[in-house]
Amino acid sequence: MLNSSIIRKTPTDLRVRPNLNDYDLQRRMFGWDEAARALEGLPGGGLNIAWEAVDRHASGPLRDKTAFRFLGADSASRDISFAELSRLTNRFANVLRRLGVRKGERLFLLAGRMPELYVALLGGLKSGAVVSPLFSAFGPEPIITRVNLGGCKVLLTTDLLYRRKVSQWRERMPSLELVLLVGEDGGRTDIPGTFDLATLMDEADDACDIERTSPEDMALLHFTSGTTGMPKGAIHVHAAAVTHHATGRYALDLHPDDIYWCTADPGWVTGTSYGVIAPLLHGVTSIIDREEFDAERWYGILQQQEVSVWYTAPTAIRMLMKAGDGLAAKYRFPRLRFVASVGEPLNPEAVWWGKKVLGLPIHDNWWQTETGGIMIANTPAFDIKPGSMGRPLPGVDAFIVRRNEATGEITVVAEPDVEGELALRSGWPSMFRGYLDNEARYRKCFVGDLYLTGDLVRRDADGYFWFIGRVDDIIKSAGHLIGPFEVESALMEHPGVAEAGVIGTPDPVVGERVKAFVSLRQGYDDSEALRTELLAHARKRLGAAVAPKEIAFLAALPRTRSGKIMRRLLKARELGLPEGDVSTLEGGASS
Ligand code: AMP
Repeated sequence: MLNSSIIRKTPTDLRVRPNLNDYDLQRRMFGWDEAARALEGLPGGGLNIAWEAVDRHASGPLRDKTAFRFLGADSASRDISFAELSRLTNRFANVLRRLGVRKGERLFLLAGRMPELYVALLGGLKSGAVVSPLFSAFGPEPIITRVNLGGCKVLLTTDLLYRRKVSQWRERMPSLELVLLVGEDGGRTDIPGTFDLATLMDEADDACDIERTSPEDMALLHFTSGTTGMPKGAIHVHAAAVTHHATGRYALDLHPDDIYWCTADPGWVTGTSYGVIAPLLHGVTSIIDREEFDAERWYGILQQQEVSVWYTAPTAIRMLMKAGDGLAAKYRFPRLRFVASVGEPLNPEAVWWGKKVLGLPIHDNWWQTETGGIMIANTPAFDIKPGSMGRPLPGVDAFIVRRNEATGEITVVAEPDVEGELALRSGWPSMFRGYLDNEARYRKCFVGDLYLTGDLVRRDADGYFWFIGRVDDIIKSAGHLIGPFEVESALMEHPGVAEAGVIGTPDPVVGERVKAFVSLRQGYDDSEALRTELLAHARKRLGAAVAPKEIAFLAALPRTRSGKIMRRLLKARELGLPEGDVSTLEGGASS
């Protein structure tokens, strides 16, 4: 059986000496204070992620090394060296200052993977602004929600996205004062109420005094979805760079001459922590593909760019598997030495497929927006149990806990192979410092010094962790965390919808598909035409990544006596599973 076999590592599997090679010893010796010494700190005191990632290298031997290589639709590429990245990010920080943006004010980014996005992210950090990257695939509703929750003052976007997703809703975003535009066609922009970024960059100075941020100053705001309410803004501080550095070293095994490709978009925390910060901290060259997934294109990039370390996601792996092994056989990957994946369960078949087709197994790892960095991982030197997320990294103490719903008390489970919630001992530097304006929700994540992750897992006798599911109703589709409440709210805006309940249904490629159940108001019929209209409505409001793919009509949705829609029951019925405890169901045990 695939599931139970182990991929054994031998020294011949390793082309370079792995950074993590003695698991027990290195875990024992590791301390976050010591790890922090890998960063230099700002000259004169303080810590700023952008200085550590860029300027530290820009004034040393790596100054002319390529930091980012951007690949476009044609074969054109644009290389940006550490020195150029330093100049461009200085200019961007000066642009923000000239516009009156002060330390701690919020800069939101809404753009495809173009150089300006990366320059703005790092330049924003230099200026002391708090940066929040959004998915460019979001529709207007998720954008408005996040801009308002985060008190966004400046938005960087493109002329196209501005016209489609922002301009007509600006009065619904009262905090938004400044909009900086990049021309999608590479040209200048001229839209009333906005600034042309290229013009401002031309006028800005090359030199800049980086804001003297402290390790605990807020640096990044990453929104994550909730089950019962609107998204939560997870606060991350400049000290997070310590974790990004340590995990880049141990979980991604970065070495100075690697060519590294993280396929994640910076609109997702992985694309920021590991698509921008971690590789730069290590002075490593990153490939950034501006295009969307295409199997041939991706194999071509791995081959032509001589990628050595590749960090991707299970959905992408499964899409490559679907494209067939024959396609992969046309390519060669002699430089590829380590492949890792994150974000959703990685099925054992996908791990083995990597070994067969790429010549390397896929190394699953686990973390989440709140942890800010990789916590549990399979790493190059150690055996893989396909289907397992691996073991806790140095500096990470992970536990299985059981919660007593009545008292709120938790017990730590010591025995192996018992299912429970994954908990982590607080104290690593990239841990979120709060949910913006939601102290109560933040407090609920902790019992004593344990942070409760919301994921159900088990740990086997060898210390490997296995993902089982979420404790809540949050949906994971193609790596995106989707809050059912946000989708339900958008559906409810349609005049025909009386109530909506949204669940994830299993999908062999994207993990889960978003499915909505709606009941209709009087005067509306459950016709195919209305179904199509509702799907289009949701897509327009939410964007394709978040909108439901399927809608079913029900006469009424199951609710608890207190009025909450029982998504768990919708799901059980959809999947033909036992309905579980229905004692709180409104109107009795069946409906
Ligand atoms: P996000 O905050 O969007 O990065 O999503 C984090 C969530 O994705 C986790 O809490 C898990 O539910 C899921 N997740 C992340 N990595 C893995 C993994 N390796 N295996 C299974 N689920 C994962």
